[in-house]
Amino acid sequence: MATFRHFRSFSKRHFYIVLTGFIILTTLLILKDWNVTKSTKPKVKTFDRYNGKATKSKLEVTSSTARKEAMRDSSEHQKHNHSTYNLVIVIKNSKANPSLHSKFETLLGSIYKMSSISLCFHVISDGDGETIAKSVIKRIAPKDTRVIIHNITVVTQKVQKEISQMQSFFTQSSKSYYGDPLFLLSIVLHRVIPIDKVIMLDVDLKFNDDIQLLFEIFNEFSEQNIIGIARENQPVYRHLFHQYRRKNPSTRVGAPPPHGLTGFNSGILLLNLHKMRQSDVYNSLIDSPKTLEGLTQKYLFKGHLGDQDFYTLISLENEKLFYVLPCSWNRQLCVWWRDHGYSEVFDQYFTCSQKINIYHGNCNSPIPVLHWEQQ
Ligand code: MN
Repeated sequence: MATFRHFRSFSKRHFYIVLTGFIILTTLLILKDWNVTKSTKPKVKTFDRYNGKATKSKLEVTSSTARKEAMRDSSEHQKHNHSTYNLVIVIKNSKANPSLHSKFETLLGSIYKMSSISLCFHVISDGDGETIAKSVIKRIAPKDTRVIIHNITVVTQKVQKEISQMQSFFTQSSKSYYGDPLFLLSIVLHRVIPIDKVIMLDVDLKFNDDIQLLFEIFNEFSEQNIIGIARENQPVYRHLFHQYRRKNPSTRVGAPPPHGLTGFNSGILLLNLHKMRQSDVYNSLIDSPKTLEGLTQKYLFKGHLGDQDFYTLISLENEKLFYVLPCSWNRQLCVWWRDHGYSEVFDQYFTCSQKINIYHGNCNSPIPVLHWEQQ
């Protein structure tokens, strides 16, 4: 009986030991399997946790979990800074703009026809935009391409205060085409994405040269340059500053290249996010609506073209913040203003006699078939 009881208790203990061992083993196997599955997934990540308030070089985060996440994300991005080249593209409202899909295909196809570098795409998108971006990138880009999806609602919420201040100066109404916050996002991207340098591209572009050459232009920035941007190729700002120009006939404001302050087109932006974070001048312009209001009043300016209005306006008194990209890197094709009162001066703004590296089919202008597409 004693032996039997001993046997029974031994059996029970034995059973629990075996059960515990089984549970541990199963857990280990599941974890191992999970890791294997995870690492074989496509290199697509969804980032929506950045704390945008990066003051100076440190990320300002509140909870310890958030801090850990931000540090991990930041170190992830530091790696990208050194090993790959970062591109930012916004894809939103594809239902209202059915041509967005084919435009993005054209852009990507042209980039990869000539690219000699490995790229990391930061796609800022809504649900449909994410689907388009992933499918096109998967089909066209090489396997080592990285994709990071940023949810546009989450991103714009982080910089809502800054954006709504801007909206009052640089959009006609929140319901107009350029009224969407996405058209102002580039201005505060340094508070959203914790990496050092990015090139932000419109979707209506076609490359005709190696994108690495565009990244190399960052090296030509002077110490004060923080943003690289090309001139606007139409007399848009001659028009928008017409009141100021009438009162100041010898002004450079709104005058054509090469000596005028022609105004900018934001289809291609070289953003040195690190220098943008460091620049007190730049950040004070974002954070003090009074200064901006002062500029709009002084130059009698009412904008409607989003971020490029902001860059244009602040460049009038802060010319050195901008590196002016050659027209070859943003050859805009829209000619709307030629037929709307500016035919006599149009060519002074529109002419670009350099070999074209990027065509920009703005205002839905068709982009020519290039020599490499005919082969
Ligand atoms: Mn465009």
